[in-house]
Amino acid sequence: MLKVASFSKLLLCFLVLFSFTLSFHAGRTEAAYTFQASVSADVLNVRSQPGTTYSIVGKLTKSQVVTVYEQKNGWSRIAYGSLKGWVSSQYITATTWTGYITATNLNFRSAPGGSVIGTLPNGTSVKVYGNDGTWLKVYASTLNKTGWVASSYVSKQKPAAVVSKVVLKANTNIRKGPGTSYPILYTANMGMFLDQLEESNGWVKVKDANGVIGWVSGTLVRDPNTVLKGKVIVLDPGHGGYDPGTRGVTYLEKTLTLRTALELKPLLENAGAKVILTRGSDIYLSLTQRVNISNNNKAHAFLSLHYNAYSSTSSGVMTFYYNSSKDAPLANTIQSFLASSTQLRNMGSKYGNYHVLRDNSQPAALVELGFLSNPTEEKLVATSTYQKKAAKGLYDGLFRYFLTR
Ligand SMILES: [Zn+2]
Repeated sequence: MLKVASFSKLLLCFLVLFSFTLSFHAGRTEAAYTFQASVSADVLNVRSQPGTTYSIVGKLTKSQVVTVYEQKNGWSRIAYGSLKGWVSSQYITATTWTGYITATNLNFRSAPGGSVIGTLPNGTSVKVYGNDGTWLKVYASTLNKTGWVASSYVSKQKPAAVVSKVVLKANTNIRKGPGTSYPILYTANMGMFLDQLEESNGWVKVKDANGVIGWVSGTLVRDPNTVLKGKVIVLDPGHGGYDPGTRGVTYLEKTLTLRTALELKPLLENAGAKVILTRGSDIYLSLTQRVNISNNNKAHAFLSLHYNAYSSTSSGVMTFYYNSSKDAPLANTIQSFLASSTQLRNMGSKYGNYHVLRDNSQPAALVELGFLSNPTEEKLVATSTYQKKAAKGLYDGLFRYFLTR
């Protein structure tokens, strides 16, 4: 027995030496995957190798935080200060937590403040293993890498899922399931915005503003971000320079038309449209010059902005078109949304033989945004509230016009 025992001890010594060499080399390559863990046992033996038969090289006490280098077969290779060895994995608890990236795109670095080795988009979940000052050591499964990120952009709070919206291209039925065989929940109107929950076989699961969940055919919805994207829209503030247009008690038409154009421009640009102003300051332009800007830029829509004059009691908004097939759909849509947004009298859209419409080869409309000959209406249309409402109405009209184009 003695002989066998000493032989097996010798074998053990050899194995220990051999595995130590292995783990020494392995430890170097696995250093990137270390994490912190706290001791959960009252007293925990640290052994030279992973197993209860190996010698005890030190002891840890409850709540001490160790660095874990590797784990196998229920054992963890750890370090605590200068104390290094193996502990039973069941008596340590990883001090990791799940964090969520709050920056739009967060730099993922090799070391605290080190070189950028990747980016983590907003909402990405990461395992946080430790920290160093204002830096967090994280494991990102999306990159399959451990690295460092700035702690101020990591939250423990799970973000509300970024909801993408769809907009209805037509009046359409919202159904109980993904197919025409499912019962109809209700009929929704064209232009309605809905939260997109999921997609299945060409059908989209949606939630409306009242929280009602249903399904709609994917052919009838559109990503609202694509509607105005890339559309060339020419805005033409009427008059300018030595041509003041009509005048009220206080305001000149040329001043108000430019204000409206400058109010509308950023709304369209934020939606991805390319906006061209025929004039951006108080300068004179001929009607031919205005039309040329539309034709030369192949405008998807041309909108001439004006304020009206008739009697001191006249009131309302109206929109003109020249060509009933090329221009009327644009004029009709804009008029409808403009009247609803401004709440001024809806004078409708109608034919008008105006130079900027007649010579325009692009879809064109001319809007009259209120009467400066009416002192009450003049005061109203000059307010920033009215200007915003008018811009919103024109924007909504253009959005609706392009929704099906
Ligand atoms: Zn005018």
